[in-house]
Amino acid sequence: MESKLSIKDRVTNLFINAEPFENAEFDSLAERMFVRKQLREKGRYVFSKGIWLNAKAKDDYVEFSRELYDNLTSAERLALVAHEFGHIRERHMCLIVKRLVIPSSVLSLPFLIIGLSCGWVAAFTTFLISVVVIAFGFAHILNLEYLELEADMISAYYVDPKYLESALWKIKQLRLCSKEPIEAYVAGLLSPRTHPAVERRVLCLRLLGVTESKTSS
Ligand SMILES: [Zn+2]
Repeated sequence: MESKLSIKDRVTNLFINAEPFENAEFDSLAERMFVRKQLREKGRYVFSKGIWLNAKAKDDYVEFSRELYDNLTSAERLALVAHEFGHIRERHMCLIVKRLVIPSSVLSLPFLIIGLSCGWVAAFTTFLISVVVIAFGFAHILNLEYLELEADMISAYYVDPKYLESALWKIKQLRLCSKEPIEAYVAGLLSPRTHPAVERRVLCLRLLGVTESKTSS
C-alpha cells in the first residue's frame, strides 16, 4: 500500500515505535468536530509504545497506548479521542510549544554552553534537566491545566461525559497497576499543573452533566 506519510512523520513514527491504525468512528467524529482537515491523511491514529498508558494529541495525529485502548469500550474511546480532537482543534500543542518549550529552551541555553566544558553528553543532560525544571515552573505560573478542562468540555459537547468519566477512572486504575511505577510517579510529579487530578476533572464533567440535564428539562 502506498503511504503518504512525510519523511518527518515516518521518522517520528519510528522514534515512538508507532503502529498506525484506522477507526471509521473516529473519522466521522473528526468530521463532526471540524478537525478532519487538520489530521493527516495516513497514520491519523497510532499505537505508541513510547507513552504512559494514555492518549496524546499531536499536531495532526493522536497517539494511544495499546494497553489503554484495549481496556476501553468503544464509547469510552470515542469520548477520549473527542478530548484529543479538542486539543487539536484549539491548537493546544502550539500554545504549549510557544509558552513552555521555547521559553524554557532559550533560558536553558547557558546550561548547554557551561556544560560543554564537560563534554556533549553532560551538556545535553544538564540542558534537558534545565528545560524540564523551567517548563515545570512556567506550567505552575501559567496554570495550564485549564487546557485539559477545555478539552474535556469539548469532548462532553460531542460525546456523553459519562464515558469520558469512566475512561479517566480506567486510566487512573491502569496507572496504579502499571509495571512502571517509577515512570508513572515521575510523570505524576511533573504534570500537576498541566494535568489536573482525575477527581477534579470528573467533578467538572459531572457539573456539565447537571447543567445539561437542567437546561434540557
Ligand atoms: Zn488532554
